[in-house]
Amino acid sequence: MTDDKTETKTSSLGRMSDMHFGAVNTPVYRASTILYPDLAAVKANTQPYTYGRRGTPTTKSFEDAISELEGADKTVTVTSGLQAAALAILSVCNAGDHLLMVDSVYEPSRIFCERTLKRFGVEVSYYPPTADIAPYLKPNTKAVFCESPGSLTFEIQDIAAIAKIAHAYGASVLMDNTWATPIFFQPLKHGVDLSIQAATKYVGGHADVMLGYVAANAAHAARLHQTHGDMGLYASGDDVFLGLRGLRTLPVRLARHQETGLALARWLQQQPEVARILHPALESDPGHALWMRDYSGACGLFGMVLKPASEAAVAAFVDGLAHFGIGYSWGGFESLIVPAHIRRTAMPFEAEGPVLRIHAGLEDAGDLIADLDRGLKRLRDTP
Ligand SMILES: *Cc1c(COP(=O)(O)O)cnc(C)c1O
Repeated sequence: MTDDKTETKTSSLGRMSDMHFGAVNTPVYRASTILYPDLAAVKANTQPYTYGRRGTPTTKSFEDAISELEGADKTVTVTSGLQAAALAILSVCNAGDHLLMVDSVYEPSRIFCERTLKRFGVEVSYYPPTADIAPYLKPNTKAVFCESPGSLTFEIQDIAAIAKIAHAYGASVLMDNTWATPIFFQPLKHGVDLSIQAATKYVGGHADVMLGYVAANAAHAARLHQTHGDMGLYASGDDVFLGLRGLRTLPVRLARHQETGLALARWLQQQPEVARILHPALESDPGHALWMRDYSGACGLFGMVLKPASEAAVAAFVDGLAHFGIGYSWGGFESLIVPAHIRRTAMPFEAEGPVLRIHAGLEDAGDLIADLDRGLKRLRDTP
């Protein structure tokens, strides 16, 4: 099983057809109460399912499939990617501990640390995404949080090097791996202890579900499971089902997102209005060598730094696009574009002009490029 190729695994993992009258994908279980046959069963507490909040066969199918893809001992499912990030942090950090957080982290994860985590006495500081972390560690550093590539700015981190130093200090390593998904990068194989995924994005893949998970190695599995249970975290059977369904087509969708994303990035790179493209799969990107070493692919999400342009010119470009929706999130079948508001506290991000984030969807690449071409003409023509 483990020698099979990814596409073979995503087709077969987590299936329990024999328990579901031959149905190929595990159906949606909606359940709160789970009945026990008798008091002896209550006492023995050996039923595979005990209460809806603690999971159903739908949850088990999804979590088993993810654990196999991630190379994890345990996966727990939650209602969003942000909840997954918060859960991973709460399952390792205690009052008085220090969390070393990457400066390019997804902004709402940063806000969780700045506001809620702080209220519980966990100290947080930030390190530049490509820096050596050693000078940033403190005697009470309990965890190092990574996100690679960085949100909005797409810096690739040397995860193995970070994990080596963190572990030598006795700190756990947490990583938000939403950009690559476990198809293109398996964090636990590079020394990460807790792998975080906003399954809302590519795993769901259709912009119609909110879902997250955390996958843990053996040393972190029990504490993750306990914290998840103590906090009453859970995801609805319907949503988990959509995650499981999305997983079946994830490799083929990602291959297309990658191809179209790179086609757009290479074309944009040559346009005079563009200062640079932030995409680690481009040979010119500072993170390219590390990306080549560690990743087996790139998704459809990347950044674009424009040359200085007025707000009106950027609006003329973006507002008139026919095939790119303006909206948050990404990973669905459709193309998107949003302005990137970059906040850094460890090291400023120097941009030549306005920064935009593009998600290449599953539309025809030629149609998307023609749309961008018309958009850049509007940008040029707007003072
Ligand atoms: C979107 C996103 C999240 C949060 O996921 P939600 O399901 O929207 O809560 C976390 N991390 C990254 C990198 C994201 O892009």
